[in-house]
Amino acid sequence: MAKDVMCEVNSCKYWANENKCNAKSIAIVSHHGSNQARNSEETDCRTFESKV
Ligand code: SF4
Repeated sequence: MAKDVMCEVNSCKYWANENKCNAKSIAIVSHHGSNQARNSEETDCRTFESKV
């Protein structure tokens, strides 16, 4: 289980000061939906929820 998730996406409602993630758990998916990401740019946080 991942611990101490650091995240720069401060428009997410789970984001907290010092780039912390307050979500109980997070789900990460492949950007292309194929489960075959080749680098970090091809992964997305599905737990993201907009603050607004
Ligand atoms: S839920 Fe995802 S996007 Fe939101 S703060 Fe946590 S890691 Fe970042």
